Amino acid sequence: MTLYRLPPLPTIREIIKLYNLRAEKQLSQNFLLDLKLTDKIVRKAGNLKNAYVCEVGPGPGGITRAILNANAEELLVVEKDTRFIPGLKMLNEASMGKMRVVHGDILTYRMERAFPNHLRKAWEDDPPNVHIIGNLPFNVSTPLIIKWLEDMANRTGPFTYGRTQMTLTFQHEVAERMVAPTGGRQRSRLSIMTQYLCNVKHCFSIPGRAFVPKPEVDVGVVHFTPLIQPKINQPFKLIEKVVRSVFQLRRKYCYRGISLLFPEEQRTALTDRILTLADIEPTLRPSELSMKHFQGLCTAYRELCDQDPHLFSYNFREELRLKKVKRQDTQDSVKSEML
Ligand code: SAM
Repeated sequence: MTLYRLPPLPTIREIIKLYNLRAEKQLSQNFLLDLKLTDKIVRKAGNLKNAYVCEVGPGPGGITRAILNANAEELLVVEKDTRFIPGLKMLNEASMGKMRVVHGDILTYRMERAFPNHLRKAWEDDPPNVHIIGNLPFNVSTPLIIKWLEDMANRTGPFTYGRTQMTLTFQHEVAERMVAPTGGRQRSRLSIMTQYLCNVKHCFSIPGRAFVPKPEVDVGVVHFTPLIQPKINQPFKLIEKVVRSVFQLRRKYCYRGISLLFPEEQRTALTDRILTLADIEPTLRPSELSMKHFQGLCTAYRELCDQDPHLFSYNFREELRLKKVKRQDTQDSVKSEML
């Protein structure tokens, strides 16, 4: 078997010089120039031979080269910063046209049309030969993963192809939160939202000093494979609301956060009721709640919402905001009366 390799090319460092690609600090750009590390990230995605890959935020193209060298069939790259496009086009020529270079924003890019139709697989089938890989700025990767988790739950966007696998980088602490077990110090909203939908693996971490320029924090490489059967069987928005409430007061007993799901006048009665329905000890801390507990909570909350359809629209934060505005109005009118 002959291994596909790209022809000799200028190094990434030379590309950066050639196209004058200084990293923009305000865009949180940090480049990975160490080919051993870019290869290692790509290996964690699995066997990419003949795969269809989307790389998000390729920048000067270090990970891009590793994907091409892994013998992918087609590589779509989506890059927001126009300065990188000529270097990526040069890489496309070197790869004999295996790439599609898109100048665009991955937060709005229509992933449901990104790959050929014949790649689509049933959800219950093995994952399709479609992969997403990327090292994005942290202020993009975190909102993006929340968006893609919702897509996963609804089988939209990249998941119209089936259980598309993803290998993405995050701030090390965020990666730790995603995989944190019940009782773990890093257990958080993100742990539940990720683990109810995916098999998630924190593959390895890269020290900040491996990047140019060096970011403040280390970087975690995380691999996601969507589960055939999510561990909580309720709508994403409902699960998100319950989980957000529970972790709102993360150091208190869990009943405190859970109670925020309910309007003040019904709070005590409905909190007692949901805890009984879900069979949860009120003095557990949010981090001590297992996936089974969250499953019970979401099912019980759904039952209560079905009995009282106004319940789901209740928003504790909105109530707080209104109270604040009211207080301010009262203070203003007292002041004007005194003048
Ligand atoms: N992947 C390259 C590497 O590892 O060296 C570059 C990493 S740099 C941290 C992030 C890259 O993502 C930059 O090239 C930046 O322009 C691009 N980017 C940032 N936001 C983006 C978005 N919303 N859509 C697409 N690309 C984006």
